[in-house]
Amino acid sequence: MKNEVDMEKWLERVENSCCEVYEIEGVGSNEPHWIWPGAVTNGYPVSTDPRTKRKALMRPLIHEVRFGKRTEGRIVMLCGLRLCINPWHMRVVKHGRKAQEKGRG
Ligand SMILES: [Zn+2]
Repeated sequence: MKNEVDMEKWLERVENSCCEVYEIEGVGSNEPHWIWPGAVTNGYPVSTDPRTKRKALMRPLIHEVRFGKRTEGRIVMLCGLRLCINPWHMRVVKHGRKAQEKGRG
């Protein structure tokens, strides 16, 4: 498999290209935000998936690289920042459970 892409390296480059911001209120993490400096579609960070060379949403891609393939649900940002792509600020929420999740601290 010669053309296999090292996604860990890719993620490292992505992180390095981001502007790290440490101002976090209520995220409960010392991890900085990774503010995406690249392209945005409909308010969401996009880039090219190095494996497919196609345009892809950054968050699902990064989440997959960091935590493995997601089978259900969707990704929400705990920090609420639209341009943040730090995988540690992501959380998978199952469909239809948003209202419940919201009520919790
Ligand atoms: Zn964040």
